[in-house]
Amino acid sequence: MKNAVEAAQFNPVAKQASIGIDEIQHVFSVDVEEWFQVGAFENSLSRSDWSDLESRVVIQTEKILSLLERTNVKATFFCLGWVAEREPELIKKISDHGHEVACHGMDHRRLYQMDADTFYQDILHSKALLEKASGQTVYGYRAPSFSMSENTWDYYPRMIEAGFKYSSSVFPGKTDHYGMPSAPRLPFYPLSDESIIEVPMTVSRFGSLSLPASGGGYFRLLPSFLSKALMTRAFTQTNGSTIFYMHPWEVDPEQPRVTDAPFLSKFRHYSRQNVMEEKLEVILKSQPFTRMDHMLNAQYRIEMGN
Ligand SMILES: [Zn+2]
Repeated sequence: MKNAVEAAQFNPVAKQASIGIDEIQHVFSVDVEEWFQVGAFENSLSRSDWSDLESRVVIQTEKILSLLERTNVKATFFCLGWVAEREPELIKKISDHGHEVACHGMDHRRLYQMDADTFYQDILHSKALLEKASGQTVYGYRAPSFSMSENTWDYYPRMIEAGFKYSSSVFPGKTDHYGMPSAPRLPFYPLSDESIIEVPMTVSRFGSLSLPASGGGYFRLLPSFLSKALMTRAFTQTNGSTIFYMHPWEVDPEQPRVTDAPFLSKFRHYSRQNVMEEKLEVILKSQPFTRMDHMLNAQYRIEMGN
């Protein structure tokens, strides 16, 4: 373990997939969490309130499953252990629809809110719950709020120890909440060997400015043509797969309202939820998308069993 931790220095080198551009597939991913577990409301709703709030994750995720079925896309679902514990049938349903089940930690604690040992227990527990519910072996991990940073680089060996083969936890730019501008834009091996690969989120560069081109709130808030232009620009800049992500609560205009949250948080959370499904359908039909494990296998020759 000591050598692995010593090797966990931030010195990443991006790895270009050794395949032709025509074979590139993009990744569609969903971070499965409840509407009240988002960073935007963490100062308005406490964790102790969670069990009293209306659960909407099943109805929301089912909308996404139908959308993916209509557009014939298989995706990766990074699910909270918290959801697997309460709604194991939803996790099974995701798996039965042919999607990859991956891990988003237990209860959306960011990496810097846990020490390395607590983090290890968190990923072991959530991985076990997800595997039990889905019947799949879970290989992928995504840190809540893309909270991987230079300070938590020594968490990668713990991911390997827990059985993960890839992580998608880095945002290679800067937003007001997260980001790691020095990180590579293409998948890279964060340690000195190839035992785990990191798949960063997609950004589009304008000089030193990096704009998210990977879904999330930006995708929902911007008009479709701008979202598509950001994704196309990112692709032409890197020749790498676009990594797209979204949340189940983004397709649910009926969800309860948190009235006492800051204006900007409410604006980001609630805006344009009524057009999200339509926008997603356009994007899903505009380019080939697949599961993250399948992309890593096809483009980086990483073997995973599912
Ligand atoms: Zn999340």
